[in-house]
Amino acid sequence: RLEKVETVRRDFVANVSHELRTPLTVLAGFLETVRELKLDPQRTRYYMNLMAEQARRMQRIVEDLLALSTLESSPEPSLEERVNVQGLLARVKSDADALSGGRHHVTLEAMEGFDIAGAESEIASAFGNLASNAVRYTPEGGTVRLIWRASQEGAEFTVEDTGVGIETQHIVRLTERFYRVDRGRSRETGGTGLGLAIVKHALMRHQATLEIQSEPGKGSRFSAHFSARRVMPAATRPASATAV
Ligand code: ADP
Repeated sequence: RLEKVETVRRDFVANVSHELRTPLTVLAGFLETVRELKLDPQRTRYYMNLMAEQARRMQRIVEDLLALSTLESSPEPSLEERVNVQGLLARVKSDADALSGGRHHVTLEAMEGFDIAGAESEIASAFGNLASNAVRYTPEGGTVRLIWRASQEGAEFTVEDTGVGIETQHIVRLTERFYRVDRGRSRETGGTGLGLAIVKHALMRHQATLEIQSEPGKGSRFSAHFSARRVMPAATRPASATAV
C-alpha cells in the first residue's frame, strides 16, 4: 500500500510539473522575443496578450491545486451547518449563463423545502464545476439542465447537457487529476483537468457519490447523490429581514 501511495505521489508531482512547464515554456519564449526583437507597439501588444493568457492558465492550475489541497486538509464538513441550496443554485445558474454568454439554453428546476448539511463553499465548488463543464462541453445552441430534487436515498443534484458526450472507456477515469478526453477543447475553454477531481473530493467529504452517464454525440448527465443523513428541512426564511 505504501509503495502504491509513493507511486501516486510521484506521478502527481510529474503531472503538475508537466502541466506548468508547457505554459511556462511558451511564456518564456514570448518574453525572449519581445526582449530581443524591435517590435512595433501593435506586435508587442499581441505578444503581451499571448503571455497574459499563459500566465492565466498557470494561475488557474495553481488555484485548482490549492483548492484540492484545502479539501484534503480541512476538517470534515459539519452535520449542523446548513447550506442554503436555493441561493446557491441561483448563483450556479447565473454563473453558467455568464459563461455561456447566451450561446446555450440553461434551465434550473429546483424542488424547495430541503437543504444540505455541510460546507457551502465545497458544495458551491462541486455544483459550479459540473455546471461549467456542461456549458464548456456543449456546442452552441445546446441545452444545459440543472436539477435539484428529492430522491430515494435523500437528495440529488443533476446536470444534464446535450453536448459532445464521453465514450464509455473514459468515464471511470474522469475524476483522476489531469485526466482529459480532449486536451484541445479542455485548454481552449480554460480547463485544468482538475475540475472533476475537486467535485469528487468535495462530494466524498459529504458522503455523496458522483454518477456519470453519457453517450458520445448526444450528451452527458452528472448526478451528485446525497444520503438522507445530509438532507435537512429548509429553514423558514423571513420575507424581509429587519435590521436591529
Ligand atoms: P477540464 O478542466 O479539462 O474540463 P475536468 O476534470 O473538469 O477537467 O473534466 C475532465 C474531463 O472530462 C474533461 O477534460 C472532459 O474531457 C470530460 N468532461 C467533463 N465534463 C464533461 C461534459 N459535461 N461533457 C463531456 N465531457 C466532459
